[in-house]
Amino acid sequence: MGYQSVMPELPEVETVRLGLLPALEGHIITKAIVRRGDLRIAFPPRFAERLTGRRVERLTRRAKYILAALDSGETLVIHLGMSGRMSVFSLVAPAGADAPPQAKPRKLGNYFYDVAPASAGEDKHDHVVLETDVPARIIFNDHRRFGLMALVPTASLDQDKLFKALGIEPLSGKLTTAWLIRALDGKKTPIKSALLDQRVIAGLGNIYVCEALFRAGISPKRLAGSLKTQQVALLARAIKKVLADAIAAGGSTLRDHAQATGDPGNFQHHFLVYGREGKPCKSKTCHGTVKRITQAGRSTFYCPACQK
Ligand SMILES: [Zn+2]
Repeated sequence: MGYQSVMPELPEVETVRLGLLPALEGHIITKAIVRRGDLRIAFPPRFAERLTGRRVERLTRRAKYILAALDSGETLVIHLGMSGRMSVFSLVAPAGADAPPQAKPRKLGNYFYDVAPASAGEDKHDHVVLETDVPARIIFNDHRRFGLMALVPTASLDQDKLFKALGIEPLSGKLTTAWLIRALDGKKTPIKSALLDQRVIAGLGNIYVCEALFRAGISPKRLAGSLKTQQVALLARAIKKVLADAIAAGGSTLRDHAQATGDPGNFQHHFLVYGREGKPCKSKTCHGTVKRITQAGRSTFYCPACQK
């Protein structure tokens, strides 16, 4: 996979969650259409039936999973995989049988959603279509089918095989300098690999690890256990900042595009090193050039001049 193919990371997933929020949280799933038996794994037995009529009590996120806690005691777990996209459309009930649907975007929460054209949800890769009592139509489209939808008992979610090995949430209060010093202590792996380890910090992927290391001025090749306290402090702050900035940028993208979209291409103009091989370093005081190396089979972008 070249570095041009961008997989949704934590900020993209959080952006999708925020877009789904007004259409799902607190609302009843009035209709569920499941067009095939599986994506990356098989859909749960009687999947559509177990979703229909259920109220979504909370819509949260864990790592790169979107979690819809249902009033049945089950949680609908959604993972976008490589190419999964979720789109939300507003369904406006026509005034009369022949009345055309209102064609202008409708505001739900902080977002504007297009009114669903008749064909919304009919694409051959629209594998799951949900309607809620907003009324809204939510479409899960995934042409490569590495995505996932599962139902897990809410009470034992943390013990489920999908979640039990996951590390801490990078945007939670758990990620502190003191915690990160302990987590990296004695590690002989490059800091880049240590940060990609989902058992340590969950949801951090290749793009935002490269970006966070650049912002903290740390070489991706440095051994994790060799960082000074001051560097770890900068790194903890940079991780939170880069993720928060990306989520904030995603929010404005959503508003501009009038629908929830998982398309991560919109965030690319915020990258300082990722995908910028051979380009000048964006640090004001640096005259270096961004370099690409391969670490553990993944592309790493960094500036050898200012990342030590
Ligand atoms: Zn530089």
